[in-house]
Amino acid sequence: MMEKELELYLHIPFCVQKCAYCDFLSAPSDEVQRIRYMDALVKEIGGYRKKYHDDYRVTTIFIGGGTPSLLEENQIADLFHALQQTFQIEQDAEITIEANPGTVTEEKLAAWKSLGINRLSIGLQSVNDAELKLLGRIHTYEEFLETYRTARAQGFENINIDLISAVPGQTVESWSHTLTSIAGLGPEHISAYSLIIEEGTPFYDYYGECRKDGSGTARDCASADMPGLPDEDTERKIYEMTADLLAGYGYKRYEISNYAKEGFACRHNLGYWERKQYLGIGLGASSLIGHQRYHNTADLETYIYKVQKKEEIREDIEELSLSDEIEEHMFLGLRKTEGISVQGVLETFGKSIFDIYGKELEKLKSEGLLEVTADAVRLTERGIDVSNTVFVEFLDPVTD
Ligand code: SF4
Repeated sequence: MMEKELELYLHIPFCVQKCAYCDFLSAPSDEVQRIRYMDALVKEIGGYRKKYHDDYRVTTIFIGGGTPSLLEENQIADLFHALQQTFQIEQDAEITIEANPGTVTEEKLAAWKSLGINRLSIGLQSVNDAELKLLGRIHTYEEFLETYRTARAQGFENINIDLISAVPGQTVESWSHTLTSIAGLGPEHISAYSLIIEEGTPFYDYYGECRKDGSGTARDCASADMPGLPDEDTERKIYEMTADLLAGYGYKRYEISNYAKEGFACRHNLGYWERKQYLGIGLGASSLIGHQRYHNTADLETYIYKVQKKEEIREDIEELSLSDEIEEHMFLGLRKTEGISVQGVLETFGKSIFDIYGKELEKLKSEGLLEVTADAVRLTERGIDVSNTVFVEFLDPVTD
C-alpha cells in the first residue's frame, strides 16, 4: 500500500513572559511544569505508532509555540527519540524549530543540528529596541544578531525571521529600517505579519477599549506612556512597501505574508495551505486527518492527566462535508501567490472549478480582484489587499 504524506506539528506552550499582543496558547512556566508536560508529550507521540507508523510517511515537522527554544537539549532529544520510534520520517523532511533570542545558546543550536533539525524560525519582530520593549519581547536587536550569527556558525542554512508591522508608534521609516536591516542579513525566509489587536491581550485592554469608548479617533489611542497605532495612511504605505522592498533583495512573496529566496518557501506551511494531512501533537494542537478537523484539549492539567490515563484528548471533532472542503481549498489555496490549480480542483473534487464557482469567478475577475486562466485562479495585487472580501465569495459552493 502506498504510504500517505503526513505533516507533524508539536506545540510547546511555554514562554519566558507573555508578550503584550499575544493570544497564542502559551504562558510562563516553571521547570517542574515543563518536565511534566514533556513527559506527557512523549507519551502522546508514542500512542500514535499503531495508527500512523506503517501507512504514513512524515514529510515535515514543525516544533512551534510558545518558545520551544526554552527547553533543554535533552528534552528536545527525548522528543526526537519518540518521533523516530513512532513515525517513518523522510530522509529529506523539513524540520523546523521556533527559537526566541534570549533563550538560545550555542550548545542548544549544536544539539538541534545533530538531531536533524534543518530549519530555524527566529521570532524577532523589529530591529528597533523601543518597539521590542513596547511589544513585551524579552530581547534586544543585538541579542537577536548574536543568535543569528551563532546559528549560521553552527551550520543552519535555512533560517526564517518573523517580523510584525503596524505596531504602535511605528513609522514608514522605522518599518523600512527593520526590513532593510533584516533583508541585508540575507535569511532564506521572512514572515511579515501586520499586528492584530486581539481580545484578551494587554494591547486589547489598552487600544481595543480606547477605540471602542470613543475617547480617540478610530486609530489614535496615544497617551503619555503609550504611542498611538499607525494611522490608516501610514499602515497602507507600510503594507505596500513590504513586497517591493523585499523583492529588491531577492525575496519572492509566495503567500500573503510570507517571502522566501528561491527554493526556500516553507514546505510545512505550504502543506497547510494545500490542505495536506497534518497531525497536531501537544496542548491545543489542531489536526486535519482524512475528512476530520479537531484539536487537542487546551487545558494544561487536563492534557497531562488525560494523556497519562490514556483518555481521549481530542475535542471539537468536525466531520467536513464536500462543501466545507471545497470552501477551505479556496480560502487556503488563494493565500498562495501561485493560486489554485484548475486541474488540482478537478482531481481532488471530481468537478471543474468553473462549474462550482462560475458566477463568482466571473464577478471577481471583472472587478480586477482575481486572475483566471485555463490553468490557475489567483488573487491580483488588488485582490491580495482585500483578500478577506474575496474569500467571502467562495462560501456555499455548488456541489450537486
Ligand atoms: S514569544 Fe511568541 S508565543 Fe511567546 S508570548 Fe511572545 S508572541 Fe506569544
